[in-house]
Amino acid sequence: MPPRDFSLVVAAVERSPFLRHLGEGCPEVLAQSFTPVWHSPGDTVLAEGAEGTAMYIVAEGQLSVSQHGCPLRTLGPGDVFGELALLYHCRRTATVQALSPVRLWAIDRQRYRAIATSNAKQRRAEILGSLRMVPWLRGVSDSHLRTLLDAMEECTFTPGHIIIHEGDEGENFYIILKGEVRVSRRVAGQEKLTRVLGPGEHFGELALLQSSPRTASCQAQGHVTCVTLAKEDFLELSPLCLLQLTAAETEMLGLEDPGRSCGSPSLRQSPLPARLEDLEAVRYKEGPWQGQHVVLGTGGFGRVELVRCQEHLFALKRIRKDWVVRTRQQEHVRTERRVLASCRSPFIVGFFGTFRDAQYVYLLLEFCQGGELWTKLREVRCFEEPLAVFCCACVVEGLEYLHGHGIVYRDLKPENLMLDQRGYVKLVDFGFAKELQRGEKSFSFCGTHEYLAPEMLRQEGHDFAVDFWMLGVLTFELLVGRPPFHSADPRQTYSRILDGIFSFPAFLSEAACSIIGKLCRRRPGQRLGNTASGIRGIKKHRWFGALRWRKLSLRQLEAPTLRLIREGPPYVNFKRFSVDWTPAEDEFSGWDEDF
Ligand code: ATP
Ligand code: MG
Repeated sequence: MPPRDFSLVVAAVERSPFLRHLGEGCPEVLAQSFTPVWHSPGDTVLAEGAEGTAMYIVAEGQLSVSQHGCPLRTLGPGDVFGELALLYHCRRTATVQALSPVRLWAIDRQRYRAIATSNAKQRRAEILGSLRMVPWLRGVSDSHLRTLLDAMEECTFTPGHIIIHEGDEGENFYIILKGEVRVSRRVAGQEKLTRVLGPGEHFGELALLQSSPRTASCQAQGHVTCVTLAKEDFLELSPLCLLQLTAAETEMLGLEDPGRSCGSPSLRQSPLPARLEDLEAVRYKEGPWQGQHVVLGTGGFGRVELVRCQEHLFALKRIRKDWVVRTRQQEHVRTERRVLASCRSPFIVGFFGTFRDAQYVYLLLEFCQGGELWTKLREVRCFEEPLAVFCCACVVEGLEYLHGHGIVYRDLKPENLMLDQRGYVKLVDFGFAKELQRGEKSFSFCGTHEYLAPEMLRQEGHDFAVDFWMLGVLTFELLVGRPPFHSADPRQTYSRILDGIFSFPAFLSEAACSIIGKLCRRRPGQRLGNTASGIRGIKKHRWFGALRWRKLSLRQLEAPTLRLIREGPPYVNFKRFSVDWTPAEDEFSGWDEDF
């Protein structure tokens, strides 16, 4: 890339609020991976509705942007377009056409992701190396250091900025990543330089260990980048090992009795259907759909139907195999099955087996008669606190079980929470769940726009902590009726998530604001649930003050959600879905052998 274009690309990356928020951190490395693209006047570079795979920066020429045939704006040198494609498969929302001969620089998702991820890994390794060199951290295990690292924030300082003032109360500890820091002391009224610190070196640690004023000043010599840890986070993180705690906590839980787990003891005695043919479709008894099969939910994957075996009702999730193969979801569906089969908790949908035929794989699930939490939420707009407390407590129980078994959920949202007959909330839909070792990170990108955690957007690797972020978003949405980070433009939503900026409506209680604020901390290591106290930190928060956890886990509480559930035929709490009946094609590639 010619030097002039190189600076243009670097400047464009630095200027784009979207890319800047992504926190790439290394526009120069990124710039080297762009490839040139040429177009003649009249060429369509992006077509509205087409699938996006690349992002572009204009080097030369003019382009027009239009939507539904209406011109929106003109693009010229230095402008960026198509950024969302860097994050996920998305359809283009506008058409971009060349008005003159144009020269563009492009980067596609795969390439971008590889760079973002490898940068993040490299940076993590570097910082970890620096942490290992810190004398008072010697002997601290690697897993502890990683936990510390997850709680650290990156910060930048302009030349001359005084990072630490001698005599001030110490709040933060710093490690230098880039640049130099001058350390000085006042001696007899004169500022005296004691040393200059460079990358990998650290300062301010005394503040973490003892409450004494700063003994020196530290000033940025040029542009300086550091990672920093705040005292309160350090104190929260350091005394206990996260690992031991969660293991002990989950030990207490033990395996639930399967009959009680699914809330229908009689199922234990009844024979489970051995074949698909043993299941009979339940039909609507009245209304315009009378006589037709009851459909509980639909999606690209297929549909969820209400079925019966003798007198017992089940939900049958029917997944089109042609869709699975086309959208390359084989691994997700297999994980969904494996995770469901390995879980047994009253807060996770019960699983009774699988079937398969030429077109479909089937998951036989406990029927959650109360319907989706999403539907209930939309009916009443927002939940009163006791209702939200109960729902979130059920979710906490579900997450505690999953995390204790090494599973991250990754798709928390009201649509994936269902109420059973007694009003208890259960997690359904394990399409995005992932088995993860403690200390391991996942680099995949999944979830729902408004619920995505910042570390997921940055593609820097994520772990169990994303579920706590999502729990914060969920708590907010249940109480307010909309998620905290929201905009019609997903780029705006993402920028807000990465910024961590949202406001609480005045009607929220102080305790609610506190727990949401603590769950929606940008740095995973600072998040409630992911600090030394583990999930117990969430359970002990005063927002849950009135909740009796033991009784909840034994399903001995009267659920306040009961009043949301309508009485009537079993499908009365479900909307009637319009179903895509186009027949699925046969699919025999064999990915579904386990079903
Ligand atoms: P989508 O892409 O639409 O989210 P999905 O793969 O997430 O589809 P699920 O969330 O598992 O699929 O199921 C879709 C819908 O079917 C749910 O939102 C719910 O309304 C209904 N459903 C799923 N499981 C059950 C169940 N066990 N009992 C009752 N209804 C269910
Ligand atoms: Mg779902």
